[in-house]
Amino acid sequence: MAVDDPPGDVEPAPPETPGRPPWRDHAACLGADPELFYARTGDLLTIRAAQAVCAGCEVRAECLADALARGEKFGVWGGLTPGDRRRLRRQLGASLPDRLGCETMTG
Ligand code: SF4
Repeated sequence: MAVDDPPGDVEPAPPETPGRPPWRDHAACLGADPELFYARTGDLLTIRAAQAVCAGCEVRAECLADALARGEKFGVWGGLTPGDRRRLRRQLGASLPDRLGCETMTG
């Protein structure tokens, strides 16, 4: 609420964030501490806790595809660690962009 707004006024919902995919609204990690998903390398307890959240996430496939398409290098996305995603990218190789339905890939 802005300083000049009369008390009791309800602030309108923020506009949709440009570039934010709609599936994010259904993420199991909404409201979770982001630190859970960006554990230090070797912090298996935290990594496993993040993966447990991902295991019950209804948009896990979308999240993983998005992370792969963006070449995300950090954090747990779609239940996979950066190392897991590197291995998956290597396994899928040249077929990855087709499987993700995108023309270009980063990372
Ligand atoms: S799969 Fe994991 S990181 Fe991705 S949206 Fe779901 S809970 Fe969040």
